[in-house]
Amino acid sequence: MDFNQVEPVKFPGFVMTDGPSYDDMTRCIHCGLCLQNCPTYRETGMETESPRGRLYLMRSFAEGNIAADNPNLNKHLNLCLQCRACETACPSGVKYGHLIEKTLDELNHRPEVQEKQRNLTQNVIRWLVFRQLFPKPQNMRLFGLGSRLYQRTGLQSLTRKMGLLKLPVWDKIGLGKIGDLEAMMPPISQPIFTPPESEFVPARTQQRYRVALFSGCIMSVALARVNEATVRVLTRNYSDVVIPHAQSCCGALNIHNGDRDYGQEMARHNIDAFEAAEEKFGELDAIIINAAGCGSTLKEYGQLLENDPAYHERAARFANKVRDISEFLAGIEFNRDFGRLEKTVTYQDACHLIHAQRISKPPRVLLKAIPGLDLIEMRDSDKCCGSAGVYNVTQYDMSMRILDHKMERVAETGASCIASGNPGCHIQLQLGVKRSGLNESREEPVEVVHLVELLDQAYRAGEK
Ligand code: SF4
Ligand code: SF4
Repeated sequence: MDFNQVEPVKFPGFVMTDGPSYDDMTRCIHCGLCLQNCPTYRETGMETESPRGRLYLMRSFAEGNIAADNPNLNKHLNLCLQCRACETACPSGVKYGHLIEKTLDELNHRPEVQEKQRNLTQNVIRWLVFRQLFPKPQNMRLFGLGSRLYQRTGLQSLTRKMGLLKLPVWDKIGLGKIGDLEAMMPPISQPIFTPPESEFVPARTQQRYRVALFSGCIMSVALARVNEATVRVLTRNYSDVVIPHAQSCCGALNIHNGDRDYGQEMARHNIDAFEAAEEKFGELDAIIINAAGCGSTLKEYGQLLENDPAYHERAARFANKVRDISEFLAGIEFNRDFGRLEKTVTYQDACHLIHAQRISKPPRVLLKAIPGLDLIEMRDSDKCCGSAGVYNVTQYDMSMRILDHKMERVAETGASCIASGNPGCHIQLQLGVKRSGLNESREEPVEVVHLVELLDQAYRAGEK
């Protein structure tokens, strides 16, 4: 018998799932250094909407002192953006993101939470969004196609003119915010991103790397042009690009919303898809992602599948290859054949890039390398824009408060272009430009772009 073997503490609050370790759950020393970095604390000034307050609630729940269906517990945890700014600020190394994911997973598994804390409409929407839409590329494509038709046939403007989404009936079935949510829809002006039949795009410059593109669900549907620009930029940077058809959504939205089991299924599916691509095309130097939220989840596949003997090592190997596009380019001798781009640009750090992946320099290195481009730093560029996955749908009011403050910071810069590295931020900032009326006071309309689009434009300018 090994007397040094210590049985891990099992928290009484975690009855359906494993729960976090004792060490992780008790690491907070209540110093409060994270408070001013937390967007919801800054908005409300309430301890219960701060990282420290939420950690206290989570620990009380874990120790069995608060019931799973306690409405305040659910309310305060659900109002968290999961932006992880508190992790960056914390001197004790509290793994806040990990703790809230595990706690929400337990709560989501409890029948009493499903019955008492959500109405039927909310449960149906969760099932549709997390089980039927995002995980299934064919359904995402249909959704994209339907949205495009809705916007282009005039149905959207007719619906808005007639005020159909403001009718009281929506309130009665728990969809009172549907009009506001519809207004957030990005214009789907382009066909959906479709990888070539061969799954392969050769390098345009002398080939040095073989990379795969993780094309993502939202990026492929709502911002196809960003994926196309990413492929062009990679092929100009000595890379053959493999785009496996079998890949699906990374699972981030499920994992952040208490549906960890399904997120694990999606991770296994993606690991299989990229391993099959390696068998077909040879070993990959990197798996490139241009969406910060997905990138942070992909890099955590090893932890996500740590208890799965069949996948643990494969997940860790997969995760080790994942690179954000800015991280990859700044890490190689990137191609500097840029033409001039006369633009004043400000950069919004995506939370899951700066806080979850600790990447802040590479995007700036790339932007500063473009001749003519004037990068104007924004105050609080590391603070969330309020998008946070589906937060702007589930917590619309708080999301808009945070966005309105973000747009004040954007306006201070005077920039005519906002660059970011995540589709959620991109869509949210587009809405912010509209809400803030920023364009009304400008001769030149403010554009929102992905960083990679600026690189792509600069390479094209270099060809002229
Ligand atoms: S993740 Fe973001 S919103 Fe949530 S507690 Fe931490 S700083 Fe606040
Ligand atoms: S989470 Fe970290 S920074 Fe915040 S109160 Fe706890 S120890 Fe301090």
